[in-house]
Amino acid sequence: ISSFNASKEKFSAQLRDLQDSKKASQSARAMLAFRERLPAYKMKDEFLTAVAENQVLVVSGETGCGKTTQLPQFILEQEIEHLRGADCSIICTQPRRISAISVATRIASERDESIGETVGYQIRLEAKSSKLTRLLFCTTGVLLRRLVQEPDLAGVSHVLVDEIHERGINEDFLIIILRDLLPRRPDLRVVLMSATLNADLFSKYFGNSPVIHIPGFTFPVTEFFLEDIIEKTRYKITPEFDNYQGNSRRRRMRQSSAKCDPLSEMFEGVDIDVQYKNYSISTRQSLEAWSSAQLELGLVEATIEYICRNEGDGAILVFLTGWDEISKLLEKIKGNIYLGDSNKFLVLPLHGSMPTVNQREIFDRPPKNIRQIVLATNIAESSITIDDVVYVVDCGKAKETSYDALNKLACLLPSWISKASAHQRRGRAGRVQPGVCYRLYPKIIHDAMPQYQLPEILRTPLQELCLNIKSLQLGVIAAFLAKALQPPDPLSVKNAVELLKAIGALDETEELTPLGRHLCTLPLDPNIGKMLLIGSIFQCLDPALTIAAALAHRDPFVLPINRKEEADSAKRFFAGDSCSDHIALRNAFEAWKDAKHGGRERAFCWENFLSPITLQMMEDMRKQFLDLLSDIGFVDKAKGAKAYNQYGDDMEMICAVLCAGLYPNVIQCKRRGKRTAFYSKDVGKVDIHPSSVNARVNLFPLSYMIYSDKVKSSSIYIRDSTNISDYALLLFGGNLTPSESGEGIEMLDGYLHFSAPKNRLQLIQRLRGELDKLLQR
Ligand code: ADP
Ligand code: MG
Repeated sequence: ISSFNASKEKFSAQLRDLQDSKKASQSARAMLAFRERLPAYKMKDEFLTAVAENQVLVVSGETGCGKTTQLPQFILEQEIEHLRGADCSIICTQPRRISAISVATRIASERDESIGETVGYQIRLEAKSSKLTRLLFCTTGVLLRRLVQEPDLAGVSHVLVDEIHERGINEDFLIIILRDLLPRRPDLRVVLMSATLNADLFSKYFGNSPVIHIPGFTFPVTEFFLEDIIEKTRYKITPEFDNYQGNSRRRRMRQSSAKCDPLSEMFEGVDIDVQYKNYSISTRQSLEAWSSAQLELGLVEATIEYICRNEGDGAILVFLTGWDEISKLLEKIKGNIYLGDSNKFLVLPLHGSMPTVNQREIFDRPPKNIRQIVLATNIAESSITIDDVVYVVDCGKAKETSYDALNKLACLLPSWISKASAHQRRGRAGRVQPGVCYRLYPKIIHDAMPQYQLPEILRTPLQELCLNIKSLQLGVIAAFLAKALQPPDPLSVKNAVELLKAIGALDETEELTPLGRHLCTLPLDPNIGKMLLIGSIFQCLDPALTIAAALAHRDPFVLPINRKEEADSAKRFFAGDSCSDHIALRNAFEAWKDAKHGGRERAFCWENFLSPITLQMMEDMRKQFLDLLSDIGFVDKAKGAKAYNQYGDDMEMICAVLCAGLYPNVIQCKRRGKRTAFYSKDVGKVDIHPSSVNARVNLFPLSYMIYSDKVKSSSIYIRDSTNISDYALLLFGGNLTPSESGEGIEMLDGYLHFSAPKNRLQLIQRLRGELDKLLQR
């Protein structure tokens, strides 16, 4: 023990020598001068004393005041200084991969070190750290995974949870675990960092822990709303209907409209009594109507051009909802005679699922006389500070998941941000000098925005979270979730647990099965994870990757409203006689790869109504999925997907794998005269969505339909379906039991009846047992 302590002492001394020598360097001194000007720096002593005296501390302060880069660094410096370096291990969580990397890199350079020395990062499938590392930035997901091996976080001295105000599901989950851990680890220190002033909520949750507020300084920001912007830019609002699935009534009204007042046109046809200026708007309804309308990219472009032509120097930060809008706007700007000049403007995208290398470009300063224009999602709201932004253009929306527990419907749609977010976005403009914020929506919409966004745990399906609760051995799911800061609806919890049982991830007593254990190790929706696992086991990996990528991202088929017929027939062409939207999409993806290879991607996508942006994203996601499967030892990445694809073109095999992945999304096809009617266990009679290749099929060869999701409008529609056989369901569906009536077999959770003789059940059960064995590795 004494030699162990001696070596520890030696190590602490080494760390201190290293720190001291670096501190003296020219660049560290220059950095120190910068750091000392940050508002957080003035609170250094107060902060360190509070950390020493309290197990939990909440810190809030304006974005850019130095929370993320300075607070963990203060602790690090002090621990090393006081020769406690050997025992110090600080973890700081970030909700997104990109911020973990950018912050760690930034701190390393403030300390005049390389990344991976005393400061490192770890994100899924990528890490830079070493034996020296004392301060580690990681995504919240990485820390949650680490808790599986180290439930008490042995060896960790400090945990800092950043961006807690965002109320992401992982962060809400982590703080339940930390609160339970505190009594077992009296020496552990927890710091919660938040951008806005909602800090009391967290303090209360941790038994009224102290709160430190870092007063920030920001320059005033002038704001303009849509009405001012239209006047300034003279932009004529003409809603783009390309790709927009608006209702026909709206289209008719537009065509017959002789008026051309832009604002009335914008609201026109949305079934509400809308007036603006001379009109009056019923706000709640108009909020909804606006949410369903697409953003006018032309207006965004016009606003950017207006700023560049009329306003002084400074970077422009544009908030959009997603990758699609970002890439479309990039194209538009490239083609703009004025803005397209690369000697004057540098346009950069910033999106959470971009490859991390590209994301880093954002922080490299552009050459002088070049104006930087950053097109970002809400990732730039608080976790990333881009210096010298003077102008913010805000579309006012962000993609948000919502979940209807009653109908088990989940969707991801652009919706209005909260007032708190709008304030954050505006604040990005006033960091270095007085700024301007252009809001592309009327003031009246802003006034009607909710104060805060609903926490993610309350508006999203909970199956992934429930799986994590089990893998961390945190007890009964419902009881555990009742301890959350804002506990989710018990019905949502029940749905999630039932789903996990139905897909065979949990057994009847709510314990993890071998399949469940594998699914825990994949940061994916359990259904998608299962499709990939089964696809790789059954040598059907390539189609599984493509279909899973489309499910996780989106459908590559676009639906132009005025050429719907042609689009539908293009999709039917790819489906062939498969009665499957999923196979259509797989074939379309393959054809796109060929076309791209042959240099005719653009024409191909145009002719076949496919989105090249989505297809490209799917290709990237396929690679990520392969990496993940290789990470958990299911495939050998070096061999590539082809080595696991012996049955990749066997339609029946693909359908079986689809069934494994999509179950319990199954409906029964029942013949009614010359047509087929469809029934679902949950909601009764349903219809096939008109955009499906199955919409016009009258009679199906097989008795069941497996589907990706259902949507509710005039009726409940099944989107993206595949006709599958009894055998696929019997082998890959839910648990089986002999029918009570005596003859046949029943699938428990689906209430499906198969008229197979009873002795078949034993055979099927044996085959399923073999499948389970394959998963026990
Ligand atoms: P907070 O977490 O309070 O929002 P940060 O600690 O992230 O603030 O940033 C503090 C300041 O450090 C920022 O205002 C910015 O000027 C600077 N900064 C942060 N990250 C970087 C970076 N990657 N490159 C250059 N400057 C940065
Ligand atoms: Mg921060």
